[in-house]
Amino acid sequence: MATVTLRDLRKEYSNGQIVAVDDVDLSVEDGEFVTVVGPSGCGKSTTLRMIAGLERPTDGGVHIGDDDVTDVHARKRDVAMVFQNYALYPHKTVEQNMAFGLRMSTDLSKDERREKVRDTAAMMGIEDLLDQKPDELSGGQKQRVALGRAIVRDPDVFLFDEPLSNLDAKLRTTMRTEIQRLQNELGTTSIYVTHDQEEAMTMGDRIVILDGGELQQTGVPKEVYNDP
Ligand code: ADP
Ligand code: ADP
Repeated sequence: MATVTLRDLRKEYSNGQIVAVDDVDLSVEDGEFVTVVGPSGCGKSTTLRMIAGLERPTDGGVHIGDDDVTDVHARKRDVAMVFQNYALYPHKTVEQNMAFGLRMSTDLSKDERREKVRDTAAMMGIEDLLDQKPDELSGGQKQRVALGRAIVRDPDVFLFDEPLSNLDAKLRTTMRTEIQRLQNELGTTSIYVTHDQEEAMTMGDRIVILDGGELQQTGVPKEVYNDP
């Protein structure tokens, strides 16, 4: 587990004509579940991608625990991200998809990796899918695999980028509960991006509202929505 601290985090595109993220300061505590909400284009995804190391800030920094990781490559950060489109490798099986991140980020033996993948698959209820390829799975199954791939690495931080947006309403409710259960169980510091206010309110210990790249407000769900 670890804290995540954003210090004056800024991202410009097109030589500064677009300010996607405008000097955002934010501290997420150890084990906290923070939801980030705001309209399309407000900078949610860019913020998350900078925390993951998939995008380089124009200015400011990202700290995980005591470490300044601003210039650290994504692969070297102890962070796992779950994407809206699942981002599974289409030619690999479920087992290979889950094992892949493990190979990059730990020095376990092949047998230990296999066992860890199988344990995590059981925890996610996907142990029967290990030999399948992503295009043989339903949307909900793919998202379970994507979650499993994130969890298997025991990361310090989970990042979620609208992970449930492609699922139908019923499945979305099920997966919300599942993600909350996992987060409670594992206690992993989590940052969860969504454009859905209701989702942000029900899932977050704390909500961050972004607008036009700026942090507008942060607080527990009740505070934020009683004080428009
Ligand atoms: P959100 O996730 O809240 O929908 P994004 O972080 O994706 O918002 O985008 C924030 C702003 O930055 C938007 O105006 C978007 O068009 C712009 N943007 C994002 N990525 C790029 C890019 N690679 N090049 C230029 N503009 C971008
Ligand atoms: P490439 O080097 O070809 O860009 P990567 O191996 O970096 O590919 O990433 C492959 C896929 O995994 C992409 O969809 C990417 O967004 C995703 N990805 C990258 N970093 C992470 C991470 N820390 N956790 C989960 N998925 C990631």
